[in-house]
Amino acid sequence: MRFQPSKPSIYGETLTSLTELLREWGEPGFRARQILDWLYRKRVTTFEEMANLPVKLRARLEGHFCLLPNTRLLVKQANDITEKLLLQQEDQRLIETVLISYPQKGVGQEDSRRTICVSSQVGCAYGCKFCASGLAGWKRDLSAAEIVAQYLHIIRLEEGRGRADPQSEVVPFDNVVYMGMGEPLANCDAVLRSIHILNADWGLRFGARRITVSTSGLVPEIRRLAEDPIQFRLAISLHGATNEVRQQIMPINRKYPLEELLPAAEYFAQKHGRMLTLEFILIEQVNDTFEQATELAKIARRLHAHVNLIPYNKVEGLPWIRPGLGRQKAFAKVLADENVSFTIRKEKGHDIDAACGQLRLKTEAELLVD
Ligand code: SAH
Ligand code: SF4
Repeated sequence: MRFQPSKPSIYGETLTSLTELLREWGEPGFRARQILDWLYRKRVTTFEEMANLPVKLRARLEGHFCLLPNTRLLVKQANDITEKLLLQQEDQRLIETVLISYPQKGVGQEDSRRTICVSSQVGCAYGCKFCASGLAGWKRDLSAAEIVAQYLHIIRLEEGRGRADPQSEVVPFDNVVYMGMGEPLANCDAVLRSIHILNADWGLRFGARRITVSTSGLVPEIRRLAEDPIQFRLAISLHGATNEVRQQIMPINRKYPLEELLPAAEYFAQKHGRMLTLEFILIEQVNDTFEQATELAKIARRLHAHVNLIPYNKVEGLPWIRPGLGRQKAFAKVLADENVSFTIRKEKGHDIDAACGQLRLKTEAELLVD
């Protein structure tokens, strides 16, 4: 379910859909590329600026579409490398987009590697027991335009700071992860459309290998994604290496247990020819045992997957505990001994997954005083 805006945003259109619409309007098809060029290369903020379009067409576009469907309310510095943009949708709903700038060794801030973590829904219906985003439940899906607009807001922010060249066709970020609020595969059409727009030569021309979609494991949709020609990456939120442990913290495991999830993941990896990532939040006494590490190693080897160990980040109101360094290391050693490729996040708040995983529905007032 999506919100019906008063006017659709033009950022939800693709080359095909826009060409069709223009044909209906009796306009030549080549106008579509001209319009997309204004949106994604020249990045105008009004239809008025689309100088090579007839005045009448500009007026018609203006009457039919809006440009960005959401407004930036504020930018919050979460720590030295993480910023959160608070965006308000037309129906007043709030979402956050995270920008993480990892400094590169020996170079300045302008040269840091930037990752954007986008939200795909307002809230989340899946209710994982460790996750802030799921706490208040699902409110609604975002449209493709509301997702694409998150990139445009980051571009504008960076341009405004002189960290991106408005004349340049290159976008000021290096990686995009669909790890913000929401379950991307529960909003599959809009997410795939936004990826298409992000990747297309008429869109933001962003490389597919730098795009990662993270899912809690919706099996039919993983299989559907596998058929998509765009070669983006997939991360699976595993968080439990046996059904018993996984379903304790991820209710979705009852619907799609490991014996269904793992073959679907395998299928995706084969079709896309890319290494999968398995995300595994370490929670003390829940999934950080030797047995879990051993089972995880087996799964990772079977799927030829990279494991991303994420020490649990405290969410207010939830009872879980982050294991101490000793336990984290012991867990990691089991993976190392089994020659599993893995990374372990060390510094609190300095990792993408935690920064994204901490997104939660708050009231506007709460967010403004944060
Ligand atoms: N719904 C999708 C994408 C959003 S959540 C999914 O579940 O994959 C993305 C990631 O946020 C999770 O996999 C997890 O890695 C991270 N996350 C959520 N809660 C967290 C917490 N309390 N501590 C650390 N990481 C967390
Ligand atoms: Fe939803 Fe992902 Fe959070 Fe689970 S981890 S509640 S699927 S956002």
